[in-house]
Amino acid sequence: MSSAEPYLVPYPSRGSLLGEPELDALSTVVRSQAPLSAGGYRAEFDDRFRELVGSRHALSVTSGTVALELAIGLLGLNHGDEVIATPQTYKATIQPLLDLPVTVRFCDVDENTLNADPASIEALIGPRTRAILLVHYGGLPADMDPIMRIARQHGIKVIEDCAHALGSVYHGRRPGALADIGCFSFHSSKNITTLGEGGMITVASDEWAERLERIRSNDSDAVYVPSAQRIGGRDEAPAWMLHPGNSYSHSCVELRHPGTNATLSEPSAAVGIAQLRRLDSLVLRRREIAGRITDVLTKFPFVRLVPERPGVVNAYHLYTFFVEPGAGADRDAIVERLSRSGVEMQLRYFPLHLLPEWQARGHRQGESPVAEQLWFTRQINVPCQPSLSDRQVGHLLEALEAVLTEVSTGTAALAAP
Ligand SMILES: *Cc1c(COP(=O)(O)O)cnc(C)c1O
Repeated sequence: MSSAEPYLVPYPSRGSLLGEPELDALSTVVRSQAPLSAGGYRAEFDDRFRELVGSRHALSVTSGTVALELAIGLLGLNHGDEVIATPQTYKATIQPLLDLPVTVRFCDVDENTLNADPASIEALIGPRTRAILLVHYGGLPADMDPIMRIARQHGIKVIEDCAHALGSVYHGRRPGALADIGCFSFHSSKNITTLGEGGMITVASDEWAERLERIRSNDSDAVYVPSAQRIGGRDEAPAWMLHPGNSYSHSCVELRHPGTNATLSEPSAAVGIAQLRRLDSLVLRRREIAGRITDVLTKFPFVRLVPERPGVVNAYHLYTFFVEPGAGADRDAIVERLSRSGVEMQLRYFPLHLLPEWQARGHRQGESPVAEQLWFTRQINVPCQPSLSDRQVGHLLEALEAVLTEVSTGTAALAAP
């Protein structure tokens, strides 16, 4: 850590470790004469990812945001359609919906996990509901069994934002294989990174996978039919010209997506393969740090922890806890003091329905009361990324213990030392 670092324990601008295996992978790609775009490394990364997650298909793209844009595009939403979304996630989960003539209904979250609450989803379902968008908040899988039951019953598609959940497990299965589409991010801050930017879409439907394959590599997702027209002054076009993507022989009767270039570069994919190999150890280190934070927090009765559930593995992209009001345990004071003792604090995430652009679409305070109350008064996130040294973890634990003791001093809330 450089002395210029203002925080002893920084917020995770880097979520994974990069080292010799990644440098070796990069050097191999650069030294080879292999293409740097759309080649064997990308194919291998997609294959390995698909096997790890257990999804039917996996297609890498340039970011998690692009994954979500393409996923939402596949839903083919029309004017007046409704989408149910969690308000407690990064804004990219639902950003593309701002461009569509659809109505978003924000559900509420489970007060123990910040994940979408299945009962509040069910209450919002109506005849126009087409999709549910949710996140596995902080790496703790959302309660997918009841959510998928509700969705299947009503013929609704579900997109899981898995940006935090690479390495998580839900009753023997992995996020990304629990719904219709999964979207992952390999941004620098995430559980693994493909050189700073990257993403992956996992998809269950063969038809959707085939359409995504075209879209990500600049082919239109379109319906073409053979046509009799012969342009360019030729009566007969040679066979090599007769391709559905050109108009010598076909015309386009429906354009679903014009296509884009969202392909991950070969150096990025090669680094991704190396990162996947060490995913288990990265998650283990996150869980180890999380366990040590939990050991400190359990001493304070006004602290409420995110529960560990049997059969569910939390990859701890974020470490989250809640403080109950009263007993001197003011959330803002705790955040302020932790920050002053060298722990960089960033709370994730401001409730989306209250962002200006969503308020401009008619959303208001009171729509998701639990999410609002937790964000405005209860929730705290602290760093737990694998790149923290033992010394930094030690400092974090000491700061937590000192600050929580300080805010509870003189009250009955202080546990026995
Ligand atoms: C990081 C993140 C994204 C966006 O991923 P990028 O790769 O940065 O575009 C989307 N959703 C969530 C929940 C995220 O944390």
